Amino acid sequence: MGGERKLAELEAVGSIPTGDAIVKLFLAKMMIDLTTPVAAVSRVGKTTASRLKRLGIETVSDLIFYYPFRWQDFSQISDISELQPIDAATVKVKIQIISNRRSPAKRKMLTEALVADQTGSIKVIWFNQPFLTKILQPGDEVYLSGKVDFDRYNLQLVNPVYEKVSADTTHTARLVPVYSVTNNLTQKQIRFLVKSVLPLATLIADWLPPEISQENNLVNLNLALNQIHFPKDKKILDLAINRLKFDELFLFQLSVLASKLDIALSQSEAIDFFESQTKNFVASLPFTLTNDQRKVAWQIVSDLQKNQPMNRLLQGDVGSGKTVVAAIAMFNVALNKKQAVLMAPTEILASQHYQNLLNLFKDSNLNIALFTRSQRQVNGRVETKKKILSDLSSGDIQLVIGTHALIQQDVEFSNLVLAIVDEQHRFGVNQRKILRQNSGDKKITPHLLSMTATPIPRSLALTLYGDLDLSIIREMPKSRKKIITKVVDPKNRKQAYEFVRNQVKTGRQVFVICPLIDLSDKLGVKAVTDEFEKLKKEIFPDLRIEMLHGKLKPADKERIMANFLAKKSDILVATSVVEVGVDIPNASVMVIEGAERFGLAQLHQFRGRVGRSIYQSYCFLFTESQTEKTKARLNALVTAKDGFELAELDLQFRGPGEIYGTIQSGFPEFKIAQLIDYDIIIKAKLAAEKVLALGLDKYPLLKQKMEQTNKAVHLE
Ligand code: ADP
Ligand code: MG
Repeated sequence: MGGERKLAELEAVGSIPTGDAIVKLFLAKMMIDLTTPVAAVSRVGKTTASRLKRLGIETVSDLIFYYPFRWQDFSQISDISELQPIDAATVKVKIQIISNRRSPAKRKMLTEALVADQTGSIKVIWFNQPFLTKILQPGDEVYLSGKVDFDRYNLQLVNPVYEKVSADTTHTARLVPVYSVTNNLTQKQIRFLVKSVLPLATLIADWLPPEISQENNLVNLNLALNQIHFPKDKKILDLAINRLKFDELFLFQLSVLASKLDIALSQSEAIDFFESQTKNFVASLPFTLTNDQRKVAWQIVSDLQKNQPMNRLLQGDVGSGKTVVAAIAMFNVALNKKQAVLMAPTEILASQHYQNLLNLFKDSNLNIALFTRSQRQVNGRVETKKKILSDLSSGDIQLVIGTHALIQQDVEFSNLVLAIVDEQHRFGVNQRKILRQNSGDKKITPHLLSMTATPIPRSLALTLYGDLDLSIIREMPKSRKKIITKVVDPKNRKQAYEFVRNQVKTGRQVFVICPLIDLSDKLGVKAVTDEFEKLKKEIFPDLRIEMLHGKLKPADKERIMANFLAKKSDILVATSVVEVGVDIPNASVMVIEGAERFGLAQLHQFRGRVGRSIYQSYCFLFTESQTEKTKARLNALVTAKDGFELAELDLQFRGPGEIYGTIQSGFPEFKIAQLIDYDIIIKAKLAAEKVLALGLDKYPLLKQKMEQTNKAVHLE
């Protein structure tokens, strides 16, 4: 730790050789290439290496492909005399005086400096970085980039980033990359590491066919990789972003088209439609199907009757009732004495689907299994893995519900004919291939149904997922009441809590969702624990509160969800793990903390966790942010009529190029491309068609890249 801190300090002021020099040295000794573990390059030790690993960075190449998610514009150098209160300014100054003192009130260490340029001088203050007085000395020329604010009557620079003046700066006086980092890794460290390996990007062959690059005005890969991290200016940054988005979308389109071709050439089992049994089943449900549910169920059973594999995307807003549609398809498969699998993204969802289906099929004599990493059951009884595997391969089990564990393990089916994937954008070509190999008869490809609540506009969906047929449920069950949504100002918090207490008194239950406090808190442990403590100790000491976050063992998660479902707890404090699919009909209030930190589509998903029964339900959006933009954005949740409208508003509020990241983009499979990149999507599609028409064999580099990408997807 001490050693690392020291390195960070040294590197921060450029007093050790920077990137280029180190790389040249290593390269000369033939010590590093793209696959070299990152620790060997940076020499920063095991701790940093393991922190990097948490970000998915293990090799030099991973580091190069770890794109920033935004850039801070420190490129304008201001004169001190011109400074105004502003979030980000950069000055080029000479240090006059610098010293440490302890703040009287809070016992914080303060470092104060007076700095000057030709136009004037200004005070600088840093908190808790006493080592600065060793690094920065009177007479040093530095860039300082940071916030300008009033200290009583005079302006001062607060906690600026500092860097010695040079022609090639890293942290100041330029567009500075900002990365997502985990706890204890600093932006400076990542920038330093990236910069030191970036020269190696030249070793990465540009796999894009030159004619495709030319036609689409794309910069070459090496340039794009260099400029995405350390852009010379905004214009070239846009070119780099454009190229790297194209890469993702192009590869994606290639795999979509390949899968389309693959499907056209493959055979599936035709599943007879058992009309009267299906009618009886539908009649046995505690509700009547909506017209849309009927329509899409019909589309699906019609597909199943063909020898051509179905490849259908079922879109429907949260709560629109997709599960029962899936059940109708599975029911017919079972009546045909064949097997079906339903896959969910989380254990919680898988086990909920399993419980649901057990319930829906309680009058049939089907064998229904649950298979996840930690849970194996058949018809409500715990079973061994061995027994389930053997009953799957003999065909004794007709329906199996699970997570990805189902395809990661060597599960053999007797006659798998239908695979249903819930709440996932896209089921990879490879995963389908795996199921095919496992389906007993090697020549048979299972029918595939993907279900999602993410509302992608139809035209976009068709362009993007050109290999899919689309079914949409737009109509909500009639019994559903509109959820009353309120954006709650801090001053009304107390009132909202009173309301919550009253709801609990009448027997209802409440969700409280917390945003991640920082990126290091990926599993939400801190966010959830803090909120839990607060509610438990200060707000609702008399209520039964439980918490749910990503660090808990699957068995504990199950227990907590089961308790909540069984009304053994009143309030569930959770991270976004409850986002998709979870069904607690008795819950009537959804409280969302830090609502401004979530995308509209995501908030809509949270809200969909309540209002699933006859009870009037409520969604409270707590926010500390008072900006007009936040208010307008959150108000869209009050006014928009459905998830489709929200998805489009979400994109408008964000605007192109504002921010990207996997959570925000609406594309879990992309690092940088977004739904809004419609132009690039179309260009990438045309390019992919062209390349495939000529044959991939003509492009060995591209072929290799595709194989790598597919492998990576498969390993997830
Ligand atoms: P989603 O489309 O979000 O997956 P679910 O399938 O989980 O929605 O259904 C949400 C709830 O609505 C479930 O409790 C389900 O039993 C119920 N439901 C489904 N269809 C109808 C309907 N036609 N009328 C009333 N309730 C329904
Ligand atoms: Mg669902």
